[in-house]
Amino acid sequence: MSSQPARPRFPDDEKRLPWLALLLEIQFITNQGVAAAIKADGRKLACARGCASCCRSHTDIPVYPLELMGITWFAVEKLEGESRERVRQQLLRHRDLGNCPFLVDEACAIHPLRPMACRQFNVFTTVCEAGEDAFHTRRGDVLNPDAKRKHEALREMLRHHGVKEGLERRRLVETGEVHRLAQSLREMRWESLAARMGQRES
Ligand code: SF4
Ligand code: SF4
Repeated sequence: MSSQPARPRFPDDEKRLPWLALLLEIQFITNQGVAAAIKADGRKLACARGCASCCRSHTDIPVYPLELMGITWFAVEKLEGESRERVRQQLLRHRDLGNCPFLVDEACAIHPLRPMACRQFNVFTTVCEAGEDAFHTRRGDVLNPDAKRKHEALREMLRHHGVKEGLERRRLVETGEVHRLAQSLREMRWESLAARMGQRES
C-alpha cells in the first residue's frame, strides 16, 4: 500500500535460499505496480493498517507455489512469540476460522511475504464494510494494478517453474494459463505448516 515500495532484504537467507531472492524480487515488482497504479489513479486509498475485513471476506485468494514456499519459510523461521503461537493455532483450525489463518489482531502476521493477490487488492475512497468484497459491490473503487508490472511479476514467477524467458512465458501470462499454478489460500492443508512451526520452540 506504500507509495514508495522498498524491497525487503534478508541477505543471509537469500544467500542460502536462491528461490527467496527471486520471490522477493517478484514481490518488489508487484509493489511497484501497485504504487504506480495508486499514483496514476490519484484518489486516496481507504486501506490502512488495522483495516482487515478483506482478510475475512475474501475466500478466493490465489497462492503460487513459490509464494507458498515464502510463507512457509517466514512462518517457520521468522515468526516469533505470541504471533507465532497464534498463527500456529489458527492454522490448526483454519477450516472453522472464518478468516485467513494469518490474520492476527487485525494485521497480517506474514506481511513481508503475503501473496501477490493481497498486495494488489486495494480499495479507494471508503473502507470496506464487514463482509463486503468491493470487487463485487463497487468495482470502480478497486485498484487496477499496473498491467505491465503485474505481467512482469508473473513471468518471473514462471522462472521458478523452469519456463525459459521468451515467447512461452509471455503466452502463459497473457492467456492467463499461469493462474493454473495457484491454489486457494483458504483451502490449503495448513496443518502441516502448523506441525513444522511446532517443531521448534518460539
Ligand atoms: S480492501 Fe477494504 S477491508 Fe481491506 S484494507 Fe482495504 S479498505 Fe480495508
Ligand atoms: S495473507 Fe495476510 S493480507 Fe492476505 S488475507 Fe491473509 S492476513 Fe490478509
